[in-house]
Amino acid sequence: MRGTALLLAAAAMLAELPAGASPVAAVHDIVYVGARAIDPETGLDAKRNIAVDGDRIAAVSETPLKGRRVIDARSLVAAPGFIDIHSHATTHEAARYQAKDGVTTRLELEIGTWPISAWYDAKHGRELLNYGSSVSHTALRYFIQKGEGAAGLAALRDPMEKFGAEEAGEALSGAASQRLVALIEQGVREGAVGIGSGTQYAPGISRREMLDVTALAARTATCLFTHIRYGSLVEPDSSFEAVQESLANAAATGGCIHVAHINSMAMRDAPFMAALMRDAHARGVDITTETYPWGGSVDAVRSHFFDPGWEERWGVGVGDLQSRSTGKRLTQDEFDALRAGAADDGIIMHMNGEATIAALLRDPSVLIASDGGRIEGPNGHPRSAGTFARLLGHYVRETGTLSLVAALRKITLMPAQRLEFFVPAMKRKGRLQSGMDADIVLFDPATVGTRATYGDAARYSDGFRYVMVNGVLVIDGGKPVEGVSPGRPIFSKYKS
Ligand SMILES: [Zn+2]
Repeated sequence: MRGTALLLAAAAMLAELPAGASPVAAVHDIVYVGARAIDPETGLDAKRNIAVDGDRIAAVSETPLKGRRVIDARSLVAAPGFIDIHSHATTHEAARYQAKDGVTTRLELEIGTWPISAWYDAKHGRELLNYGSSVSHTALRYFIQKGEGAAGLAALRDPMEKFGAEEAGEALSGAASQRLVALIEQGVREGAVGIGSGTQYAPGISRREMLDVTALAARTATCLFTHIRYGSLVEPDSSFEAVQESLANAAATGGCIHVAHINSMAMRDAPFMAALMRDAHARGVDITTETYPWGGSVDAVRSHFFDPGWEERWGVGVGDLQSRSTGKRLTQDEFDALRAGAADDGIIMHMNGEATIAALLRDPSVLIASDGGRIEGPNGHPRSAGTFARLLGHYVRETGTLSLVAALRKITLMPAQRLEFFVPAMKRKGRLQSGMDADIVLFDPATVGTRATYGDAARYSDGFRYVMVNGVLVIDGGKPVEGVSPGRPIFSKYKS
C-alpha cells in the first residue's frame, strides 16, 4: 500500500509538470528560433525561442531550446493563431486560403447551423482549422415554418440561400415560438457556440421573439450573435433602433449579445454605434461588436437589403454598387434587371470610407472578424481570403492606423476572451504562452498583406510563413501542407 501511495504521489507530481517539461534538457518536437514573440495577454513583445510538444506550447524562452525540427524565425513575428469568430466558409479550399491569412480557428457564429451534433460529426477528423458553430435561430424558423419533416429539413440545407424567402416575413404563433426556443435550447445543450440570428433576413421576427432568444442566451449563460434587425441611416427602422433593441434586450435579460459587422449595418454611424455599445459594456451590459477591415459589403441582389428606398437607408447610390459576376460598377438599368431577374447574384456595395473603418479599428472595444464565405473564383469578396493580412499590412504597416500589438490583440486574445466564459477551449487559445494550445502564426511584418481584391478575391495573402494548428503545421515555409487535418471541434461548456 505504502509503495503504491508513493507511486501515485510521484505520478501526481509528474502530471502537474507543464506539457513537455522534463528533469533533463528536453528535445522538443518543433522549435522556432529568435522570433519577435508577441503575446497580447502578458504584454510580451521580445525575441524569444518557442518550443512545441504535441499539441501544446512547451516553452516561450530566452534560453536556447533543442528541437527535432528547428525553424529559423529571426525575421518573423510569432503570435497566437488568429480566431475568426465570423466565418461562413465551410470548404477545405476556403480553409486553405484562411490558413494563408493566419487563421487557425474559424467559427460560424452569426448565422449558425442545425442540427448541431450532425454538423460537428460530419467534420470530425476532416478539418484543417479548428471549427465551431452557433445554433441557428434563423434556420430553425424555416424548419418550423416548413414543417419539421422532409420539407423543413430541405429548407435547412443552406439557410443562407433562404434569406429573403417569403416565409421569412411571417411571425410565429405562440406555440411555434415556444417550439422555436425549445429547439434552439436543444442546440445550445448539444454544445453549439451560442445562438446565431440573421435577424434582418427574417423580418417576421418580432421584438418579443428576439427578447425570448436573448433570454435563452442569458438562462443558458451563453451568447447571442446577431446580424441586427436593420441596416439603415434613416428612422424608422434604422440601425440605431436595432442597436437600441440589442442594448435593451441585453440589459433587460442580463444576456450576452455580440453584434456582427457594425460597419456594414451602420455605415458612417458605425463608430458612434460602437461607442454606444462600449459605454453600455462599461456599465455592465454584456454587449460587444466587430468590424471587417473593408469598405464594401456583399449581399444578394434580391435580399431585403435592396428593398425600395435602399439608397437613403444606406447612404449610397447605384454608382456605389459593383457586380460580383462582372466586377463592373452597375448602372440603374443593370441593377433593376438583376433585381427583377431569377438569379440571386451577389452585389458589392462600397458604403464605408477609410475614415470610418479606421475609427472602428482604433476603438479598443471593437473586434475584427472576416464575415467571409466561400472562395468563389474571381469575383467573391476579398475579406474571405484576406481580412487578417489586410489588417496587418494595410492598416498596421502602410497607414499606421493602429499598432501591431493592438491589431493582434483584436484577432487573438479579444475573441478568446469574448467566448471563454462559456467556451472552455478558448482559455487555451489566443495566447502565446507555455501550456497553451499550439495554434501559432509566424509572419513577415515587412511583407504581410492582402492580394485578394474585389475583382479577384481568390488570392492567397502574403507574408505568412508558418501557421500551426494544434501543433501541426498547415502552412510550412509559406506553402500549404497537403494531407493534414489537425482542426478540432470548438464546443461550449455543454459539451467539453
Ligand atoms: Zn451579417
